Amino acid sequence: MSDRPSPPVFRFAPSPNGYLHLGHAYSALVGAEAAREAGGRFLLRIEDIDTGRCRPEYEEAIFEDLAWLGLTWEEPVLRQSTRFEAYEAALKKLRALGTVYPCFATRKEIIGAIEESGIGLDRWPRDPDGAPLYPGLYKDLPPRELSRLMWEGVSYAWRLDIEKAKTLAEEKQGGPITFQEDGAGPRGETGRLAIEPELYGDTIIARKDVPTSYHIAVCVDDAAQGVTHISRGQDLFYMTHIHRLLQVLLDLPEPIYRHHPLIRDETGRRLSKTAKDMGIRELRSEGLSPQDIRAMVGLNEAERA
Ligand code: GLU
Repeated sequence: MSDRPSPPVFRFAPSPNGYLHLGHAYSALVGAEAAREAGGRFLLRIEDIDTGRCRPEYEEAIFEDLAWLGLTWEEPVLRQSTRFEAYEAALKKLRALGTVYPCFATRKEIIGAIEESGIGLDRWPRDPDGAPLYPGLYKDLPPRELSRLMWEGVSYAWRLDIEKAKTLAEEKQGGPITFQEDGAGPRGETGRLAIEPELYGDTIIARKDVPTSYHIAVCVDDAAQGVTHISRGQDLFYMTHIHRLLQVLLDLPEPIYRHHPLIRDETGRRLSKTAKDMGIRELRSEGLSPQDIRAMVGLNEAERA
């Protein structure tokens, strides 16, 4: 057996629910560049668990646009829609640990509970993405009530009991859980950071009809693919707190994170999948070259040398 360390593994993991824009190009190029510099591997992963919003034509366009940009990646490309069994196994483990609970609350019920709380929706605490924290309905349901609702076929989601999960993870780890941020979060957070998954409250971790979530799928697949370095946009920075928690609970290895700033339009707004003017396809059809795209996102040829 060779004792040479295995090369670092980087990845770009787009969701085929729209066409790629300049922000994706930046993210993919940064990841591929980092892999090249580190003498590592570069993977592409198609994150298509949201079968309602993902479309084959978007997936095809991802391959085409990335190849046009000059990127290469390893084959075969992992598609998350083929991995539901692995995600279900992870959910089962979280259930066995007692860190998730079924939640039957509708959106309306949640808002209603918040409005009646005396605090009101305006002043109710929100997660880093702006959603109100879950007010804990159905959390401590008596077992009889729980089986009645399940028996009746009422739709539900699995929520992470964030307090219980964090306590258990800290016990497993023998101390506070941290992650290594080699880039920076939106507020300049960098270095070795303590996780604060409570920022998201009891977040949804799986649904009855889709037995996974972005959080489970991304952690399970990064581990399965041996990803050592995660470079991605700052919009996902705070979710890393949940991901590290899941990695500890599920006994998955810890990757190094590098969150990069987001590409914004001239008004300072973040690009969205509908921002056609910044779409790779559009820029391409206007006659721009891959070098022009690199220049637009601030990556120039000198950096490649
Ligand atoms: N699939 C996610 C997205 O397109 C990115 C996942 C990740 O990089 O962790 O936003």
